[in-house]
Amino acid sequence: MPDYGHPIRFGSFITPVNSPATAPVRLAVLSEELGLDLVTFQDHPYQPSFLDTWTLLSWVAARTERIWLAGNVLNLPLRPPTVLARSAASLDLLSGGRVSLGIGAGGFWDAIEAMGGRRLGPGQAVEALDEAIDVLRGIWDAAERRPLRVEGDFYRVAGAKRGPAPAHEIPVWIGAYKPRMLALTGRKADGWLPSLPYLKPGDLPSGNRLIDEAAQTAGRDPREITRLLNITSQESAEDLVRLALEEGISTFIVMGDDADGLRRFATEVAPAVREQVDRGRDQHGTRAVGRLRNSIALSRRRPGIDYDGLPASLAARAVEPGDAGYARYTSSYLRGGAPGLVLRPQTAGEVRDAVAVAARHRDVPLGIFSAGHGLSGRSLNDGGLVIDVGALNSVEVLDAEAGTVRVGPGARWADVAGVLAPHGLAITSGDYGGVGVGGLATAGGIGWFAREHGLTIDLLRSVDVVLADGTAARASAAENPDLFWAMRGAGANFGIAVSFEFAAARVGKVAFAQLVFDASDTAGFLRRWGTAIEAADRSVSGEVILGGRQGGRQYAQALLVVDSDDPDTIIERLQPVADIAPLLDQSVALTSYDQLMQAMLSDAPQQGQGEPHSHSGLVRHLSPDFAADAAALLETGASYFFAIRSVGGAVSDVPADATAYGWRDANFSVAAFGTRASGLDSRWEKLVPHMDGMYLSFETATGPEVLARAFPPGHLTRLRTLKRRYDPTGLFRDNFYIAPAAAGHAA
Ligand SMILES: Cc1cc2nc3c(=O)[nH]c(=O)nc-3n(C[C@H](O)[C@H](O)[C@H](O)COP(=O)(O)OP(=O)(O)OC[C@H]3O[C@@H](n4cnc5c(N)ncnc54)[C@H](O)[C@@H]3O)c2cc1C
Repeated sequence: MPDYGHPIRFGSFITPVNSPATAPVRLAVLSEELGLDLVTFQDHPYQPSFLDTWTLLSWVAARTERIWLAGNVLNLPLRPPTVLARSAASLDLLSGGRVSLGIGAGGFWDAIEAMGGRRLGPGQAVEALDEAIDVLRGIWDAAERRPLRVEGDFYRVAGAKRGPAPAHEIPVWIGAYKPRMLALTGRKADGWLPSLPYLKPGDLPSGNRLIDEAAQTAGRDPREITRLLNITSQESAEDLVRLALEEGISTFIVMGDDADGLRRFATEVAPAVREQVDRGRDQHGTRAVGRLRNSIALSRRRPGIDYDGLPASLAARAVEPGDAGYARYTSSYLRGGAPGLVLRPQTAGEVRDAVAVAARHRDVPLGIFSAGHGLSGRSLNDGGLVIDVGALNSVEVLDAEAGTVRVGPGARWADVAGVLAPHGLAITSGDYGGVGVGGLATAGGIGWFAREHGLTIDLLRSVDVVLADGTAARASAAENPDLFWAMRGAGANFGIAVSFEFAAARVGKVAFAQLVFDASDTAGFLRRWGTAIEAADRSVSGEVILGGRQGGRQYAQALLVVDSDDPDTIIERLQPVADIAPLLDQSVALTSYDQLMQAMLSDAPQQGQGEPHSHSGLVRHLSPDFAADAAALLETGASYFFAIRSVGGAVSDVPADATAYGWRDANFSVAAFGTRASGLDSRWEKLVPHMDGMYLSFETATGPEVLARAFPPGHLTRLRTLKRRYDPTGLFRDNFYIAPAAAGHAA
């Protein structure tokens, strides 16, 4: 040191004048066009000729795509940290993780007091800033479930709700000059941001020394603190090279509102500085620093994980327990989680790198995460690795005429429906738009067009998979047909699907019916439901949901799609179903499939905690015996959510041995949610003899007896043989685990 090895960056420092209000925006947009890394604005909210800096930052964020944004520096006495934290997190989320927080204890006290701000006496600024940083980071720590309490002298926070978590770890930079503020910077901040005109000779080395000492005393690596500097346009490239190599400055922010000056800085000075600093670093053998985590983050690391051995392709986006993005991985839709490391590949190649990392971590659990709606699949875990393929979420129409569509595993089915709708296309998926492609399209996919178009896997033409040995394979009828067979029903056991190619169906307007029945004669209702659905035209698919009795009455809510836009046809097809029991409420709306999927979606962060408890089965007919036993189960209140989805129709047209999903004769898929305490398990056992098998995606029990019901015997034998070929050591095991066949056993 003092060259800390940080990447060299350049920014602009623009006066937020409001006449004309567009002037600072123009300069900010120009900064991005010129390739600068950062645009910053001073913050003087008491100045009538200035725009409010937060509002300006938000506007500029919306007008730009790449450049980072920061106040230079924000005025703490006029910006309460609880609110500032939420403003920053919100803008970070909206801008795709481009916000940094430059912050200072203010000046111009008369003006601040005149605005209602609190004057900080001599020496108090450090304490105020110190407490403010705790508040800011406390609010951003959305992974922490306890409300935030800070008992400071300046800021009291009495149980504030935390969150939202920003899109990335927002760095806190302090505009410090005096020793105690510099020590605070070393202790707590992520960057030091002074202005060169305010520094005397010798201030930079002494400031760095104070910061480094304070950092080390606090158990930090001094390289955790980036050294930024506001400079004038007078500084030459040589001056900046010296500041970089000798004084440790890595981010240069040029002050001034002159477009030509900015242009010269970005096109002449910046490239020359970069080149000479690179050369100087080569000569001195200075090592570039990658991402550094502070001691608190490091203390949250879990055992058995080689955090420092990640390939560069994954290291920058990896998420650990101490990171800001970690809250996303403490809940899936239905489960809680506390993974030790989340790898977030962005390409198929990076998925291969992630699989190689997983192969070196056989002693900790591995979860494959697409959109986090797994019931059988544990895409989150406790202390293990998670490979999140959510970034592979593209949806491409390859040939609208032929209906060929390529979809990434991280896309949600509502997104898929939205892209296909303008082409008059749709892929039947499930009933919920938020479910991910990766989990559903490897298991089956019982959706709103099941009886008309089959399962989701029946529309699959090929799938690209990263296998357990880290190689990539395409599976289709022509290439690796065995793998293709296995991926359609048991895919989670065979690799990570990175791209799917489907033949989508032609779909126009559809009817969506919601009918509420009095199903107090529950056994009779279920029998009649079964008969009516089996007799219905194939364009009718859907489900009926029952729960415990309310006020002595059993209600049944039916949700049905009719693939027709003709009102008479729709009524004609629905009427026999509507007639099976007294109707308490009804609505039928003409809509589109994508609108339906959008309605079945929440963009709120997932909140699942604990473990769901559900059972699943497939039945041919809702026979009188089945109906009686199901009614008895419901009568006890053992299941709060008992859903019967329609299959049959086109699902049954596919030969049973064509895919790993093998129970093709069933007309109904039954799923019951409850708890162990509610007695669901013993009641469910009574239903099992009526069933022909089960759909794994709705089952939370595990073990060999579950697998034996999930796949017909011949299918299971073949799956074990293929598991031996494709994943002999059982790397992929977060879902229903198929043990590889012993050597010598062939299908
Ligand atoms: C509210 C809700 C409604 C549902 N409705 C239906 C429905 O109507 N019809 C239906 O068929 N299912 C339905 N399901 C079940 C759903 O299809 C499965 O839970 C599915 O696995 C969720 O996929 P995901 O990617 O969102 O989940 P994740 O939790 O991300 O993944 C679940 C599991 O799938 C596997 N997996 C994920 N991504 C990949 C990949 N890229 N390659 C290989 N394996 C992978 C892993 O084993 C993982 O543990 C529903 C689930 C919920 C929560």
